[in-house]
Amino acid sequence: MKFLIVGGAGYIGSHMVKMLAKAGHDVLVLDNLTTGFRQSVKYGRLIIGDLADINLLETLFTQNQFDGVMHFAANSLVGESMNNPAKYYRNNVSNTLNLLDVMVRHNVKHFIFSSTAATFGEPEYVPIDEKHPQKPINPYGASKLMIERILQDYAQAYSLNSVCLRYFNACGADPEGEIGECHDPETHLIPLILQAASGRREYITVFGRDYPTVDGTCIRDYIHINDLCSAHALAMDYILTGKETGALAFNLGNGTGFSVQQVIDVVNKVITEDNCTLTIKDGERRPGDPAILVADATQAKTKLGWQPVFADLETIVRHAWAWEKKQIKKDTK
Ligand code: UDP
Repeated sequence: MKFLIVGGAGYIGSHMVKMLAKAGHDVLVLDNLTTGFRQSVKYGRLIIGDLADINLLETLFTQNQFDGVMHFAANSLVGESMNNPAKYYRNNVSNTLNLLDVMVRHNVKHFIFSSTAATFGEPEYVPIDEKHPQKPINPYGASKLMIERILQDYAQAYSLNSVCLRYFNACGADPEGEIGECHDPETHLIPLILQAASGRREYITVFGRDYPTVDGTCIRDYIHINDLCSAHALAMDYILTGKETGALAFNLGNGTGFSVQQVIDVVNKVITEDNCTLTIKDGERRPGDPAILVADATQAKTKLGWQPVFADLETIVRHAWAWEKKQIKKDTK
């Protein structure tokens, strides 16, 4: 099969590219390298370009007959989206529309879309299933929800089959150590803690200890990057084989929540083996952070046959730590 992976040089996209290529698929990556890295594309062919470039898209789709498209190229920082919503609506909505429209023009009917738990907004109940109301509280979540809605209309009018996968907290790294998480700036909890442990950062700040949770810190559902990617592969297969048509959506998480403090405890256990230590500071709550976000991924399991392999938080942290140790070596070379 031939797939176009948009945003395949980014954190999730690069792991997806590796998984598809290793499964024997022909993979073409389109990435503008604003947040992705050329060296993360270890498999397949990289075209450097932007979804705003309709002529480029037209050429790509004329030259290649894709069986399906996966779209990872979006901006995903909640705080930034509050200060610069234009960037989010332009890139996450308008540019995605360019991609959908070229697919329709070239009769490419299978699309997997990176959506997010942020489309739900403040949880009304947990774990969050697909029936939970979607009321995003920031432009990032709103931009993703707009595409979810557009996909429903495109399924109806143009028979474009799609699966929206709503991620909870993506983390971990390639178990073989080839690729991992590299954001600049880094804002995510696990890589930040690990950078504090490796000495690339002075300390980690815990954003709030006064939440209504077991230990007062926020609870999240951490899902290993490879488990996330395996769900994409299954979702693509599900629509390619016509098991269901239309615009589908699944929540992806392990269904178990860990508090920020529990994550720190697991990291502490792992880094002690390397004689590393961690400085922790307490800070204010980060605006827009719900106390608890945990997924109910029953639908993905029953319909797609998805089964997380690295559900254990310690394994996730070990993979991310192995990656972080490689980064320190690179920095000191
Ligand atoms: N967090 C924290 N300190 C940090 C970064 C994150 O305490 O330096 C907390 C954050 O408040 C949230 C959890 O860690 O409760 C996960 O945050 P992250 O940014 O990794 O993912 P998000 O839940 O925002 O998608």
